[in-house]
Amino acid sequence: MNEFKNFINGQWVTTGKTFENRNPVDNSLIGPVYEAGRAEVDAAVQAARAALSGPWAAMKVQQRVDMLHAIVDGIHRRFDDFLAAEIADTGKPHVLASHVDIPRGAANFKVFADLIRNVPGEAFDMDTPDNGFAMNYSVRVPRGVIGVVCPWNLPLLLMTWKVGPALACGNTVVVKPSEETPATATLLGEVMNEVGVPPGVYNVVHGFGPDSAGEFLTAHPGVDGITFTGETRTGEVIMKAAAKGVRPVSFELGGKNPGIVFADADFDKAVAGIARSAFENSGQVCLGTERVYVQRPIFEKFVAALKAKAESFKLGDPHDHGTNFGPLVSMVHREKVLSYYAKAREEGATVVTGGGVPDMPGAMAEGAWVQPTIWTGLPQSAAVIREEIFGPCCHITPFDTEEEVIKMANDTPYGLAATVWTQNVGTAHRLGKALNVGICWINSWFLRDLRTSFGGAKQSGIGREGGVHSLEFYTELRNVCVKL
Ligand code: NAD
Repeated sequence: MNEFKNFINGQWVTTGKTFENRNPVDNSLIGPVYEAGRAEVDAAVQAARAALSGPWAAMKVQQRVDMLHAIVDGIHRRFDDFLAAEIADTGKPHVLASHVDIPRGAANFKVFADLIRNVPGEAFDMDTPDNGFAMNYSVRVPRGVIGVVCPWNLPLLLMTWKVGPALACGNTVVVKPSEETPATATLLGEVMNEVGVPPGVYNVVHGFGPDSAGEFLTAHPGVDGITFTGETRTGEVIMKAAAKGVRPVSFELGGKNPGIVFADADFDKAVAGIARSAFENSGQVCLGTERVYVQRPIFEKFVAALKAKAESFKLGDPHDHGTNFGPLVSMVHREKVLSYYAKAREEGATVVTGGGVPDMPGAMAEGAWVQPTIWTGLPQSAAVIREEIFGPCCHITPFDTEEEVIKMANDTPYGLAATVWTQNVGTAHRLGKALNVGICWINSWFLRDLRTSFGGAKQSGIGREGGVHSLEFYTELRNVCVKL
């Protein structure tokens, strides 16, 4: 795929305005993206609304379920196309995209197709003042047209994590992928047509946020609900747009997640786990760890072991199966991450490893590469301990007691995730209760059962996704009360 059109009402739509999609491995041009203006966004929303009363609405639940399974099969049939598109847009290693992004991107349709067939409703008998009784029961109805605004870090996976449940519940969607990663959302349009999803059910509009497709979509009065994953600051802007018309929002926002390692942890597993959580996807995972706290008796040993891990990553061509570390998503994002690398030095950090730009051979020297980086020695007030960087870096702080580390871990406006490493079952459960986060992993990280709740506390989000929790946003719950 070397040009990216909007997908509206089952048709491919170009516009007079394009922007460039570039490959962050070497900053080469992948192709032009046709930016949707107000007119195209409006056409997409109208198409989505019309589809709510067309053949899509007439489908029996089982037919809808079968269609979602057909989408899963359609993605798998074109697995290599999705893989190539995701790798080109993000530069992420083949080993990661082929094991996580694309299979999970497909599985998100399956899990909600299976759920929707089995989810129970509620029913209550009640006595009435006239000595009779009444029966209450719940019905879930689709919310309507859902605006889906997505980030660039796990483009297909995070998009279908919303589109899967939205369609399973009978809604229609207008997706605004990140301007950095337009490819897989576009490709999914081809799959939708291939498997016979009615026109207007799945629409894609390309563009940026302010004064572009993102703003036009979220401000559109024809959108009944907005689901967004991205930065907390962007969430604030979208929430204002959603206030007009009192439209509900579902938000997965930023994080500054703690990783906590107790002296009694299985050392090698803890090092491997923290290395993954800090550096996977070049640190561009919302659940990733940028603040590590290690109990003092193992502090020096841990820092040395994590340094060795960080220095063992193989940077290179993402298609090479040995490569396990890719570039950042864009040159713009690299500037942001490098500004934090500079800030850490200015604030007096000890740079344990990294801190700059690696020497990449040939054309890759032009790409958005940064070194995996570890710092120590900064106070809790330091910028790199307080602010989300979204890069392959972490600061390691020693701690002495459980109480002390809980206090430091919770000392943030964010509350997305935590990863805790200990063999003491009491410590594990106490931390699970005390950490103010939406997801707390003990002796693991990013271990996902898709039936469980996913989302953030504090400024890391509003609402929960996953399993039945997704239904809270993608359906209206109606109570029917029958007097008998
Ligand atoms: P971003 O907020 O810059 O952009 C996300 C999307 O919002 C893009 O499609 C963008 O075009 C759009 N957008 C920007 N301004 C807008 C506006 N005014 N109105 C409407 N749309 C607008 O985020 P990003 O840089 O793409 O992604 C990185 C961020 O996402 C990080 O903060 C990360 O923590 C967060 N994230 C959170 C989760 C989670 O589950 N909590 C998952 C992944 C990423």
